[in-house]
Amino acid sequence: MIRVSGIKLTLDQDETEIRKSLLNKLKIKEKELIKYTIFKRSVDARKKDRIFFVYTVDAEVVGEDKVLSRLAGDKDVLRTPNLKYEYVKPGTLPLQNRPVIIGTGPAGLFAGLILAAMGYRPLLLERGADVDRRTEAVKNFWSGGKLDTECNVQFGEGGAGTFSDGKLTTLIRDLRCRKVLEEMVAAGAPPEIMYSHKPHVGTDILRVVVKNIRQRIISLGGEVRFQAKVTDLLVQQGTVTGVVVNEREVIDSQAVILAIGHSARDTFAMLYNKGVKISPKAFSIGVRIEHPQELIDRAQYKQFARHPRLGPAEYKLAYHSSNGRSAYTFCMCPGGLVVAAASEEGGVVTNGMSEHARNAPNANSALLVGVTPEDFGSDHPLAGVEFQRRWERQAFVLAGSNYNAPAQLVGDFLHDRPSRTIGQVVPSYRQAVTLAELKHCLPHYVVETLKEAIVEFDKKLKGFALPDAILTGVETRSSSPVRIERNEHRQANIAGLYPAGEGAGYAGGIVSAAVDGIRVAEAVAAKYKPLGDGN
Ligand code: FAD
Repeated sequence: MIRVSGIKLTLDQDETEIRKSLLNKLKIKEKELIKYTIFKRSVDARKKDRIFFVYTVDAEVVGEDKVLSRLAGDKDVLRTPNLKYEYVKPGTLPLQNRPVIIGTGPAGLFAGLILAAMGYRPLLLERGADVDRRTEAVKNFWSGGKLDTECNVQFGEGGAGTFSDGKLTTLIRDLRCRKVLEEMVAAGAPPEIMYSHKPHVGTDILRVVVKNIRQRIISLGGEVRFQAKVTDLLVQQGTVTGVVVNEREVIDSQAVILAIGHSARDTFAMLYNKGVKISPKAFSIGVRIEHPQELIDRAQYKQFARHPRLGPAEYKLAYHSSNGRSAYTFCMCPGGLVVAAASEEGGVVTNGMSEHARNAPNANSALLVGVTPEDFGSDHPLAGVEFQRRWERQAFVLAGSNYNAPAQLVGDFLHDRPSRTIGQVVPSYRQAVTLAELKHCLPHYVVETLKEAIVEFDKKLKGFALPDAILTGVETRSSSPVRIERNEHRQANIAGLYPAGEGAGYAGGIVSAAVDGIRVAEAVAAKYKPLGDGN
């Protein structure tokens, strides 16, 4: 196959035009082009008066070597690299019991998928419910019902990303990313995630995908148990020997993958008490900002706004303040909703999600400021957890101690005055918002940095500082407040314990967590022999 990049089409050109461009670029005749597939598609909107789709395409042609040598030196024409995922060579140590995976977020599910495919028959333990029962629990909370502290936006099948925008962008460069996307497509995700520059699934499709991945793990010999919280880790002479589930059931295992996400505070505490080495880690806190999606479309795409082939526009902004802090937008959800993402009683946490169609009226994004262990006020390894908890509780109280979230209009936030009424932007947060002054539930340096950043962002994205735009607080779970140390064999200071994913501090986002799950599964597989049918 030959990989051809830099094929540009205008918004009004049909994708069938790719064929013509390929023939031109490769200087071949129609009959010499056997077939082609799109490898990547991105949008070039740098010049607002001329927006293009830019394609990279893999083509099968007659006389591939000759075409390549004729076009040697053309940087847009190269041989297609082999991106196929290769399973590691299994190790030789016998396993007495099945590997245990704690958590069914992206890290746990993908670790499970790889180990199941290689014949290890992993056992996945998830504290929350399966995705259908979980959806009910979340909807109940969002409509004013009780928060289920074991089954919510953070906990349950699919992990923290299930009620998300399902953005599958990642900054990591790793061949395993493709494996993740392939498996997601096989489980029901739209095929264009394989080539879209900004792949996106949406919570509606993600819920189907995680269920299908679970079924695939089971079909390959794995087992998945819900409402199975690991409450203790069994350790003998510095080596893990098993786990305790729901405080009563002992499960023996010499290989335990810890894919617990960033919100399992009780599990972090249990691990710390067991002597697992944990360090505090920098993360970010702030608010969600909501604008009319139409405003973002116009700012980004000008006269092409709402063009049916473009979809709702996104943005990504960063600002370095003179106080040394950085503010940035994160997890932007076009046409999405701000959601209540608490997992502990007495705290308010915001996040964002969208359906595949991304057709809600508001655009939202986290607006965050970095904080470091020096801000936590203690050098205890779990001080970052306490820091998050403090602001979540203040937000809870500020909004009326009923899981409403405190909200303020951007104009009022910038002028340091309380908001009295909602304006043109109707907040999408479910439960409801209570108008308040967000400075009462955020550190002062975060407030000051956000104020500067909003004004600066408005210079880059016209309308960002719209006085009626809504800020809803507090967004505290942007990434893990801890790192669980691991060595080059991906094991913790307790042998046989494999920390993985976002909660352990090795990933940030769905794809990178899934990739880290795969890496850790590979480490287990490279050490141990697969299990025979009799185990
Ligand atoms: P998690 O997904 O957090 O999974 C951990 C799992 O472990 C949970 O299911 C939990 O219940 C379980 N668990 C914890 N403790 C125990 C225990 N003791 N016993 C048994 N089970 C346990 N990322 C993106 O890339 N794109 C997005 O669009 C996006 N949007 C998001 C929107 C929301 C609302 C949220 C909350 C997050 C979003 N993220 C997004 C972040 C993304 O979801 C996470 O980065 C990712 O899920 C981390 O994967 P993980 O497997 O490491 O952990």
